[in-house]
Amino acid sequence: MTRSAESFPRRRTLRTGGELAAAGLAPPERTALIDRAGAVFPVAVTAHLADSMAPEGALARQFVPEAAELARDPRDLDDPIGDAAFAPVRGIVHRYPDRVLLTPLLVCPAYCRFCFRRGHVGAADAVLSEAELEAAFAYIESNPAIWEVILSGGDPLMLPARRLAAIVARLEAIPHVATIRVHTRVPVLDPARVTPALVAALESAKAMFVVLHCNHADELNEDARAACRRVAGAGIPLLSQTVLLKGVNDDAATLAVLMRALVANRIKPYYLHHPDLAPGTAHFRLSIERGQALMRELRGRLSGLCQPTYVLDIPGGFGKVPVGPSYIEGGGNGGHRVADWRGRVHAYPPEPREGADVAGDRPT
Ligand SMILES: *Cc1c(COP(=O)(O)O)cnc(C)c1O
Ligand code: SF4
Repeated sequence: MTRSAESFPRRRTLRTGGELAAAGLAPPERTALIDRAGAVFPVAVTAHLADSMAPEGALARQFVPEAAELARDPRDLDDPIGDAAFAPVRGIVHRYPDRVLLTPLLVCPAYCRFCFRRGHVGAADAVLSEAELEAAFAYIESNPAIWEVILSGGDPLMLPARRLAAIVARLEAIPHVATIRVHTRVPVLDPARVTPALVAALESAKAMFVVLHCNHADELNEDARAACRRVAGAGIPLLSQTVLLKGVNDDAATLAVLMRALVANRIKPYYLHHPDLAPGTAHFRLSIERGQALMRELRGRLSGLCQPTYVLDIPGGFGKVPVGPSYIEGGGNGGHRVADWRGRVHAYPPEPREGADVAGDRPT
């Protein structure tokens, strides 16, 4: 039996150290620390998450603050991916010529302790006013180079279905906007929010993609999978993004299980993000070399459908780039050396030299 979103009263989100300890999700001696961390960046664990969370497991590590969160690392940056310099109006981040982020609200169902936007997300004035939203639409309208709008946040699926439908309709009416993308974690954090009305709000005459943020296969329990099926069932393709996190998913077996679970549920892995330098998140970070080694372990052993692109958002606002691993070296007239997925190296022949007389080049 599946329970419908409407048939159960919504249970409360846990927001304090005391509530988490009472639910058995944190040791009682950590309650004060959790509340101190929550004063910096809100603590929230949905009832859905609490049901599937084991103390100290991969879910608890993502959502229940640890002492390390209150420490400052010298590499931490308050604006880790340099959004501020690319925000022409409130609610818009325009870093690349052809696409913008539109953040109608900065609220999430639960707060990831590693959040790269932890400086903005969860703030008190976290929803754009009608006038601010209109200014954001006007910015998009006046920039014909904007081909894609990415609804992000916060989590756009926290909006009431009617408001979301109005935003989608407004974007749909802008002729140069061809693609709308929704970045969300709601299907895994609070799947009951993905009601038929919310899914209907996403349906668009233009291309619509939903990108699910999911970091561990434990997040894809039956209710979460059913929420994703409702989205896919409306003809909306799903992609995923995963943040590579120490102590959560930083081993090849865990990533393999996650990527396969995503694909088996019709979700195409899109990005594996190297963790950003957000304040108080040093305990989640690992080296880029380690990330590359994990990617090498996935290559060839898992279907190509299960391979995400490993990306780094370059600090300072320079955007995302793939950070390997690379399988090719050399080049020029020495030719390339290419490593296969098992690590064996093969030669790829060089291009002929300019002006060289290549045998068989033209009939004589
Ligand atoms: C991540 C991001 C995007 C989307 O980048 P893609 O590589 O197209 O997924 C767009 N704008 C900003 C500001 C971003 O941070
Ligand atoms: S869902 Fe995204 S924006 Fe919200 S807390 Fe998690 S990482 Fe941050």
